[in-house]
Amino acid sequence: MKLKKHIIACVKPGSIGEELGLRPKDKLLAVNDTPVRDVFDYHYLMNEEYVELLIEKEDGEEWLLEVEKEYEEDLGIEFENGLMDEYRSCSNRCIFCFIDQMPPGMRETLYFKDDDSRLSFLQGNYVTLTNMKDEDLDRVIQYHLSPINISVHTTSPRLRCQMLHNRFAGDILEKIRRLYEAGIELNGQIVLCKGINDKEELERSLTDLSAFAPVMESVSVVPVGLTRFREGLYPLEPFTKEDAREVLETIHRFQKAMKKKWGIHFVHASDEWYILAGQELPSDDRYDGYPQYENGVGMLRLLEEEIKEEMKKREGDSRKIKASIATGKLATPFMESHIKRIQEKYPQVDIQVFPITNFYFGEEITVSGLITGKDLIEQLQGQKLGEKLLLPCNMLRSGEDVFLDDLTVAQLKEELKVPIVIVDTRGEDFVKAVLEPPRENAKLRRRQIYEQTNSGYCGKTECGEIHPV
Ligand code: SF4
Repeated sequence: MKLKKHIIACVKPGSIGEELGLRPKDKLLAVNDTPVRDVFDYHYLMNEEYVELLIEKEDGEEWLLEVEKEYEEDLGIEFENGLMDEYRSCSNRCIFCFIDQMPPGMRETLYFKDDDSRLSFLQGNYVTLTNMKDEDLDRVIQYHLSPINISVHTTSPRLRCQMLHNRFAGDILEKIRRLYEAGIELNGQIVLCKGINDKEELERSLTDLSAFAPVMESVSVVPVGLTRFREGLYPLEPFTKEDAREVLETIHRFQKAMKKKWGIHFVHASDEWYILAGQELPSDDRYDGYPQYENGVGMLRLLEEEIKEEMKKREGDSRKIKASIATGKLATPFMESHIKRIQEKYPQVDIQVFPITNFYFGEEITVSGLITGKDLIEQLQGQKLGEKLLLPCNMLRSGEDVFLDDLTVAQLKEELKVPIVIVDTRGEDFVKAVLEPPRENAKLRRRQIYEQTNSGYCGKTECGEIHPV
């Protein structure tokens, strides 16, 4: 095998890597005398109490380092290429692919279609397994790498081939079964398309997948996202309120049965379904610890719970604050109710919530994570924004200060003439962002949110200096 050199991007302060004298730009050549093909190999080889690392320092000198550590203990180093190998692009042409519906002219990396099972392990991406060779499956099993997050969409072989536009996509159940029998923890995802994989097809998929519980820990059902850039693509319709109610009825029925059988709810509807159906979000305990948080399942409920907790700890006072929040239309009523909760103890806090219409991708897109800097500027210019404008951190590309359309936070600040506070995902951070003055050099502690388009992620958020706003 050709010897690969894996360049270290960062070394966490206080980590074993730092103690060993590793530095960014050093190269890992081998672990226990074995070359490292990719991140799968690396994790497998590192799961030992004693390892020998062969390192090439920046000046070309080679170091052989002996490490004694806990079995699964990490060295605290990250590599420039998180996969430690070439990214595998996808071999499908899904009828619902979001990337196909993106406007032209955005930065190149946003159009990269990754479908690499190693990304599933590394950063929680959902993968179709269609370009996973037998050898890859063997390695996942042999190395016991989990969880593996799978974009199932349907368990019907014929329909899956049609939906993914890939004649090799029909063997999903066999692949899942192999992983299941090997005890690999799994999560599934179904992107629901109206008239295609809903109704009896959804029933069938959920019935088939239920057989893999509890090794398969959860399955999320999310509605297809439709932008205004669908010319020439497969005709897909948005779901209605009645459709959403029917989907929820199916999911709740499965939840009830699975709770009885396995003690977990197993199938989870993304937040959008409840909003579209005009129904209350499920209670905290129905999310089973939020295994599908990154898929937009329970984000709103978890935030509310965390805000409640944070507010319980506070006495309140009469501080005066006048500020604003911009978010997607989906989250607007929730933001307003969070502000009301804060006002119960801080009555002089006055925060206006601005729902931003997504003209860039199309008005059907109502999540905050796809709002662009251009839409923010156009809809907020001239508004009374108060002493600061709060924006959720998922509007920015992970680890950067840029919106999807490449506008920066600094440019937005300049255009709107207001200090901008990027708000972390936790309820505690939200409350602090509302009540405290904007902090210079504040570091964000984001939950890692799955970004389908973030193929260049290399873990910089873990130890990089990020987001002074
Ligand atoms: S949805 Fe995912 S798997 Fe399907 S074509 Fe797009 S990137 Fe590939």
